[in-house]
Amino acid sequence: MNEIEPALDATAAGERLAAVEQRIGQAAQAAGRSLDAVKLVAVGKTFQAGAIEPLIAAGQRRFGENRVQEAQAKWPKLRAKYPDLELHLIGPLQSNKVADAVALFDVIETVDREKIARAIAKEIDRTGKRLQLFVQVNTGEEPQKSGVLPADMQGFVALCRDELDLPIEGLMCIPPLDEEVGLHFALLAKLAARAGLGNLSMGMSADFETAIRFGATHVRIGTALFGPRGQG
Ligand SMILES: *Cc1c(COP(=O)(O)O)cnc(C)c1O
Repeated sequence: MNEIEPALDATAAGERLAAVEQRIGQAAQAAGRSLDAVKLVAVGKTFQAGAIEPLIAAGQRRFGENRVQEAQAKWPKLRAKYPDLELHLIGPLQSNKVADAVALFDVIETVDREKIARAIAKEIDRTGKRLQLFVQVNTGEEPQKSGVLPADMQGFVALCRDELDLPIEGLMCIPPLDEEVGLHFALLAKLAARAGLGNLSMGMSADFETAIRFGATHVRIGTALFGPRGQG
């Protein structure tokens, strides 16, 4: 069978969640870290609310989406039903979506340029919304990827924190596909320590155990929880 399952039933969702949590726990333990040091962000992108809800029913509360518009279409309803959800934006943010993103998300992991940082600051001032922010770092210095360059990270974080008074709490990265991920995770950890930031969002289905070894506090996992994505 190579059909893509459009939705998870409750049992399958619970089993996949338990399996992923167990692997996170084992990796944390092996790294000498406490079990609650690593938070699971379940990435529901491309999946409908009907596929996500069984995971919520199984106890998962923290979710990630990479598109503002897609998230707006499915999360307000789930939110109304489960008020204690925590929603992370993990995809690039455009200026014209900042107001929507600030309204919908609890955590924006992809602050990556001055224009966006200023727009978020303005929106927080206007609405009083409480948010957690991460700066995305382009650790591989890939031209097509978003994120501030490692060399610019300190200056950018200083601008965000000191001038704009933004609640920057961590760094996030997506390593290049074809490189040793550990090098990128180590770099992100080093940059965060240098900036005095305690949170590291790094690691996906294929490499989250490595990320945990290098200090990830947030792992963003889609496929291992939901199965393969369709066209989306
Ligand atoms: C899709 C996505 C993930 C999850 O990827 P999987 O390999 O399915 O676990 C994590 N982070 C970001 C930024 C993503 O876009």
